[in-house]
Amino acid sequence: MAATGGSSTLFDAMLTEFEEAAKILSLEPGIWRILTSPKRQITVSCPVQMDSGEIVVFTGYRVQYNITLGPAKGGIRYHPGVTLDEVTTLAAWMTWKCAIAHIPFGGGKGGVIVDPTLLSRRELEALTRRYIAEIIDAIGPEKDVPAPDVNTNEQTMAWIMDTYSMHVGHTETAVVTGKPIELGGSLGRREATGRGVMICAREAAKHLGFDIKDATIGVQGFGNVGSVSAALLAEQGAKIVAVADFKGGVHNAKGLDMPALLEYASRNRTVAGFKGGDTLTNEELFKAEVDILIPAALENQITMDNVAGIRAKAVVEGANGPTTPEAHHRLHKRGIFVVPDILANSGGVTASYFEWVQDRHGYFWSEKEVNERLEQKMMEAFHAVRELSVAFKVDMRTAAYMVAIKRVADVTRVRGMYA
Ligand code: NAD
Repeated sequence: MAATGGSSTLFDAMLTEFEEAAKILSLEPGIWRILTSPKRQITVSCPVQMDSGEIVVFTGYRVQYNITLGPAKGGIRYHPGVTLDEVTTLAAWMTWKCAIAHIPFGGGKGGVIVDPTLLSRRELEALTRRYIAEIIDAIGPEKDVPAPDVNTNEQTMAWIMDTYSMHVGHTETAVVTGKPIELGGSLGRREATGRGVMICAREAAKHLGFDIKDATIGVQGFGNVGSVSAALLAEQGAKIVAVADFKGGVHNAKGLDMPALLEYASRNRTVAGFKGGDTLTNEELFKAEVDILIPAALENQITMDNVAGIRAKAVVEGANGPTTPEAHHRLHKRGIFVVPDILANSGGVTASYFEWVQDRHGYFWSEKEVNERLEQKMMEAFHAVRELSVAFKVDMRTAAYMVAIKRVADVTRVRGMYA
């Protein structure tokens, strides 16, 4: 696509979803053009002196896709496969996610082409500080607020906050979210994405006429999102019967012992080999007899190759882009209720918004307060999408895009054209 500077599959996939919703909304061509054009794409070269003395130049990107609703918001990923197209698409998804969550942020995303496992801690810190220095004029609490993503974490955010603060000459915690608690991070942020997934699963069950207490659940991925979703759903009384990660999985029709599984996974960094059930492969996970399936690992997991085997009544997308568009249509045709990623995993960015608000006030909330506000925001978002999906007889993904596009388009129209 012209918007991303080359032929693009990921951006095209986003556009396909966008177009379906924009057509139903009869979106006028001018607004359509604005909403499908990234506002700003920054490419920077980041020279780093490695421990060996050699100088290596890394390429970094920061994309602010749309900032109509407020400062750009979105993570920074470190990965050898990062491309401008990928970062742009992720920034677009952040735009829609923030609009659905009804928080005053636009969408952004950043990335550096690097395999962080090959860098020492000192090299990673140097790269992070140089990358931030290169984009420093574009970021800030009122401009663009980064967060962690693939291969970046609380420590990376602390380095970003410090680098920015050194440049502006005072401590500025609100420039980034996902920080350590002692540095202005928010209680409840780490669990927020999983908590949001749990809320969506609970509401999906209600919508379909069963109680989450009687539900059986399968989860792919047992990292931050998967493990917290599973633990919180078990707290609600649901039975977690199947779990798999990159090394394999485990199945127990009577329900897995969650405290024991969480303890095992944190010790072994995998659920594979857990003794409280039978061995399960990722392929078998997707065929498991469950009421709700939660893909919470990575993209493109539910495809035309395995969609026919899925027996769940609902799929709640914890991961970003876990279902291909063709497989999604098939699920919808079969009457399987899909809670799309831009709604289901928006708990993370909502809690990031809470972190930004707390930093700007210099007043910090209890975990109970964070969780209560998150519950309220997720319920509002879920039901706004569900109601539109019922009213227009469309699937939840199309309805989610419709909510997002309408909110950004309405503000664009009211703000008018600066020329
Ligand atoms: P994570 O790294 O903590 O965990 C990822 C899990 O997926 C691990 O259990 C890993 O073993 C498993 N996995 C990796 N490759 C796999 C494979 N090929 N087959 C099966 N399992 C595999 O990551 P996370 O933070 O839990 O994120 C998971 C997904 O949720 C990603 O798509 C991420 O973009 C999305 N997401 C995360 C957040 C957040 O706040 N962490 C917010 C929004 C979206």
